[in-house]
Amino acid sequence: MRVELDGVSKRYGETTALESASITVEDGEFFTLVGPSGCGKTTTLRLLAGFEEPTEGAIRFDGESVAGTPPEDRSVGLVFQSYALFPHMSVAENVAYGLNFADPPDGVSTDERVVELLELVGLSGFDDRDPSELSGGQQQRVALARALAPGPDLLLLDEPMSALDARLRQRLRRELREIQRNLEITTVYVTHDQAEALAVSDRLAVLSDGTVEQTGEPTRLY
Ligand code: ADP
Ligand code: ADP
Repeated sequence: MRVELDGVSKRYGETTALESASITVEDGEFFTLVGPSGCGKTTTLRLLAGFEEPTEGAIRFDGESVAGTPPEDRSVGLVFQSYALFPHMSVAENVAYGLNFADPPDGVSTDERVVELLELVGLSGFDDRDPSELSGGQQQRVALARALAPGPDLLLLDEPMSALDARLRQRLRRELREIQRNLEITTVYVTHDQAEALAVSDRLAVLSDGTVEQTGEPTRLY
């Protein structure tokens, strides 16, 4: 799915979180928003997810405005910094929860879909574990499986690895890119880490103080 922000601003009272941002993410692209804390990255993801509406400007998915479309009708999957798995549910139940608001793709059953997804993220056989029994990296893989469960057209990742150590981050980053390429899913990734942004992205936008400073391929920036 192609994603466009066209002159999007978001204000909270006196605060301008995002100012006239224009960004296009091509179908199947891994696109990163990078910049320091407070520059508007999370706001952009929340606007794409439909948790907020822009104060100005338009957001289009495949050329169609999504103004007023609620999150559950936007075909987006989300992974946040904190894994936010449900502690009282098993790994399989956590992944299946991703199907609470949408049917599995391709007419498969929920159980079949959970098996597929755990295989995809390298956690086959972990179905009955509790989240507390998993490492941080494994918990984040479960969160990814849950986000991908309904077969979304857009994946939104907000600092998904910031709680992990550097070596593990690098490994998970490679795994994430491999999964993303195989699924050909349009992905918007948020990080404050420039090295990570340069290593992982097809293209990226550098944000500063709510404004898009540069957009381009990693090799063409800096
Ligand atoms: P980042 O994700 O890059 O750290 P954010 O998008 O969270 O930045 O925030 C951008 C700016 O908007 C910050 O100044 C932040 O304080 C402000 N902001 C974000 N959300 C709200 C909100 N709900 N109410 C008021 N100000 C907000
Ligand atoms: P992390 O999940 O933090 O990246 P590892 O991948 O090293 O950490 O996994 C932690 C433990 O889980 C290791 O002992 C490893 O053998 C086990 N493990 C990881 N992935 C699988 C898997 N797909 N099947 C079985 N065991 C696994």
